[in-house]
Amino acid sequence: MASQSNPPESKHGNAGGGGMQIISFANQKGGVGKTTSAINCAAGLGMRRQKTLLVDMDPQGNATGGVGISKKQVRISIYDVLIGRYEAAEAVMPTSYENLSILPSNINLAGCELELVDTSDRAHRLKNALDTLRGFDYIIIDCPPSLGLLTINALAASTGLIVPMQCEYFAMEGLSQLVMTMRKVKNQYNPALMMLGVLVTVYDGRLTLSLQVMDELKKFFPNRIFKSVIPRNVRISEAQSYGQPVIQFDRACKGAEKYLAFVDELLAMRGAAPAGGMFN
Ligand code: ADP
Ligand code: MG
Repeated sequence: MASQSNPPESKHGNAGGGGMQIISFANQKGGVGKTTSAINCAAGLGMRRQKTLLVDMDPQGNATGGVGISKKQVRISIYDVLIGRYEAAEAVMPTSYENLSILPSNINLAGCELELVDTSDRAHRLKNALDTLRGFDYIIIDCPPSLGLLTINALAASTGLIVPMQCEYFAMEGLSQLVMTMRKVKNQYNPALMMLGVLVTVYDGRLTLSLQVMDELKKFFPNRIFKSVIPRNVRISEAQSYGQPVIQFDRACKGAEKYLAFVDELLAMRGAAPAGGMFN
């Protein structure tokens, strides 16, 4: 079992502008690229010399598997941390990728919301756990496909939110609930939470539908769409089935190139959200 220690304090200090950045990838829809984006964002930040922790908040554990950690290797998971059985530092595992650690998940997490429902600090369990960690520049959280207590914990712990979206029919459906959840978390638990932007994924520029939805998104979120758009690219899903971030699996493919461009865009923002917009 890999020992679960923190990386040393970063030489670079924190990631510029305002300390450690904690970013949730959230959207209550499944299959929009949350996990893929969280994995590649975290691995890309690591490649750019940022000490990064990927936190898997989905009971399906796809982010855990996606950085090469098998179910058998996970002895202490995010579930154990959220229910207070272990410290966060005890659950953190190294990965074989540079500057990238993971706080893994497994199916135990599925029961967590019910177990926490009667506790007074139920929305702050993740925040309190992450507050005890030192030495990371970025913490990237992969949320489950719901707006329940796990996603609320993620948003309450985060400095920023990124919403991955696919250019498909009904892409905008459910957005108002997501906006309402973000506002509720901001008001009740975390006034500092910022909407960093929408990341368009699985984009196919040959489809009229993709172009139309992209137009609609730009109207709905002026100045809030990341310039780096992630194309539909089979190497991305292949990489996941090999337990590798695509930027490691095939650095030269279009998907890897765009995910790295997205990471550079994020680094250039240094935690500052663009001004204005419906999320504030
Ligand atoms: P979510 O976490 O939102 O449910 P995933 O990131 O797991 O979504 O993506 C859903 C599926 O689509 C996965 O099988 C993944 O490999 C695949 N996928 C994600 N992004 C792309 C892409 N840009 N091109 C091709 N397949 C993708
Ligand atoms: Mg997922």
